[in-house]
Amino acid sequence: MIARVIVDISTSDVDKVFDYIIPESLDLHVGDRVKVPFGRQKTEGFIVDIKESTDCSHPMKEISAKLDDFTPVLPEMIDLLWKMSRENNLRLVDVLRLFIPAMMRGGRVREVKRQFVTLAEGVSYEEAISKLKANAVNQRGVLSRLSEGGEWAAVLGEEFGFSAVSALAEKGLVKVEELTKRRRPHVGAMPDKVVTLSDEQQAAVDEIMRGKKDTNLLFGVTGSGKTEIYLACIGEVISAGKTAIMLVPEISLTPQMMGRFRARFGDKVAVLHSGLSDGERYDEWLRLLRGDAVIAVGARSAVFAPIKNVGIIIIDEEHDSSYVSENNPRYVTSEVAEFRRAYNGAKLVLGSATPSLDTFKSASEGKMGVITLKHRINGTKMPKIEIVDMCAEIRNGNNGILSARLLEAIGVTLESGNQSMIFLNRRGFASFMICRKCGKVMKCDDCDVSLTWHKQDNLLKCHYCGRPYIVPDRCPDCGEKEMRFGRVGTERIVEELQARFPSAVLIRMDKDTTRKKGSYDEILSAFRMGEADILVGTQMIVKGHDFPNVTLVGILDADMSLYYEDYHSAERTYQLVTQMSGRAGRADKEGIVILQTYSPRHYIFSFAKENDYLGFYRKEINIREVTNFPPFTKIVRVLVVSESEERALELTKSMLAKVRSYQKEHPERFVSVTGMKSPVKRIENKYRYQILMRLTRKEEQETLTAVYDIVNAEEKKNASVFVEINPQNMN
Ligand code: ADP
Ligand code: ZN
Repeated sequence: MIARVIVDISTSDVDKVFDYIIPESLDLHVGDRVKVPFGRQKTEGFIVDIKESTDCSHPMKEISAKLDDFTPVLPEMIDLLWKMSRENNLRLVDVLRLFIPAMMRGGRVREVKRQFVTLAEGVSYEEAISKLKANAVNQRGVLSRLSEGGEWAAVLGEEFGFSAVSALAEKGLVKVEELTKRRRPHVGAMPDKVVTLSDEQQAAVDEIMRGKKDTNLLFGVTGSGKTEIYLACIGEVISAGKTAIMLVPEISLTPQMMGRFRARFGDKVAVLHSGLSDGERYDEWLRLLRGDAVIAVGARSAVFAPIKNVGIIIIDEEHDSSYVSENNPRYVTSEVAEFRRAYNGAKLVLGSATPSLDTFKSASEGKMGVITLKHRINGTKMPKIEIVDMCAEIRNGNNGILSARLLEAIGVTLESGNQSMIFLNRRGFASFMICRKCGKVMKCDDCDVSLTWHKQDNLLKCHYCGRPYIVPDRCPDCGEKEMRFGRVGTERIVEELQARFPSAVLIRMDKDTTRKKGSYDEILSAFRMGEADILVGTQMIVKGHDFPNVTLVGILDADMSLYYEDYHSAERTYQLVTQMSGRAGRADKEGIVILQTYSPRHYIFSFAKENDYLGFYRKEINIREVTNFPPFTKIVRVLVVSESEERALELTKSMLAKVRSYQKEHPERFVSVTGMKSPVKRIENKYRYQILMRLTRKEEQETLTAVYDIVNAEEKKNASVFVEINPQNMN
């Protein structure tokens, strides 16, 4: 028999399937990892097909060995492999690598076998004891321990000495066998809170499990009981003998969250996230593959969990940008989830309080069902949102970062013994330009997105069309000279607050304070336990945490993401404000949110204030439609990176010409095509150029394939080329 093998070497010239002879001595299946001769060396590879004969003309080599005693890649994943490599233009081996724990390659992580001791078969505790001398204290100790059940030899040895164990084994009184010792990630135990689902929740479960649509958007405000609905659905699915995948944004994978799953489903849950050691990750993955665990809980990559017979896939906080992988291999989690849903005849749930525009549009077109939860489960009101006009602050002589209203509210909160969270909205390293007096933001005349300041050449640029603008020396609207490039750090806010409230205890949470493993959870639990009065942080403090004593949330520079050079800006800002507000007053205490902005009249804030997602959606989707932005178009960026600027430029020009001629043949499929330097034109000493196109949604997959063909046909010596679809980050 012949095996078709993809070798584990990631370069474009080896990215094909090679035929090998299967020797009689090996029992091999599709999905196995094998060792094969390749060139003058041996390398690892994956069997993706087995067939009778070959049309290969030159002599074939034999597979040398099988690498694992299980089949790591399921048939379903082989189908997914073909689809992803075709549609996302990925190397086959790069896709395969997504399906297995990284350290499995090259045999860098293995199952750990350890000696496990039990009473020998047919030997009772009393009988064994009667055969020992009275002074054999340690051996008696071992037996007494084993009378309660088996134990690892290492544990017994530590307590009673290894000689006691081996003496018992020699006498045939105990049995020692090699067992797999699983490295289990530590998850804080949490008692399972048994709740009776509300009628609204039960109806949601029924709709998800037995409703008309296999895919549903679960649209419910924070605290509306979505997680309980997930738990109930998963419970049903596993009672029916099927498996489940629960995806959450990496940053929401808190011990609390995992504790809830462990409490309900115990050992049936395996967790997969980046905080695990390689050994833990491997063992959790293997428990899933072997069927010992049937629920995979994890971040984005858990969508590839090695489980058969999937009954439900849940994507919580579906709007979160972490579900789109930004690095090679690029993929969109919900697309993979949809493939697995269809393959398994499973259910798919997308949960959010602020669905992405894409998802909500699909839902309103009937492509998926919508289940709406309008109320918080314990009847707490949504917090009151107050908007503070920062331009007015300046006019009143306050040039600081914190408004008088916010400072007053922090003071009141401190006095009442409650906690505050101050959120600094800051993204990326690009900055926009804003007039400190009237709030005017410099925008592109053609694209209606804010311009980004480029320090290198002191220009403002549009990241969509590339058009440069001279930095104005005064505000074009009001003539004010003090224009500024927005950007403040958390450190400065902490300093200001501390000076203002000397006795308050503050903690700061940002990239700098959370570098160490576990520090993220430590900071949050310290805050939750009341060890600080005020938490100041970036993005990281936004998500999925339940802080019962927080009654005040301050959002600084809410416009920062609004005028970020990205068409998603408004959407992101709405999501952020809503999520952040969800942190205030969750328990029995009512909360307030104070939102500081230079554009208090922006529609985003009025919708956020009223908690009116639908109103926001209608307005925003309309803007996207008139301005030709996604979901009405697809933005495709071909990024060219090279150490040689000449090379990058030459390659970009060559591909641009080909794209342009394709555009001429199919003008209806394009809104625009431009070639230019990337917004950040040099990163890590490499020059970056790009071709940016906006595709209409007509025959989009076909156009994409054509673009991939153009890119793949190019000789890419000394350069790398990446194709990104709707990139989240346009640096
Ligand atoms: P969401 O995921 O929408 O934010 P959760 O499922 O976490 O909401 O629910 C919020 C809080 O309400 C949790 O503490 C949860 O245990 C509790 N809760 C949810 N459903 C019920 C219920 N039916 N009865 C009592 N408490 C509930
Ligand atoms: Zn102005």
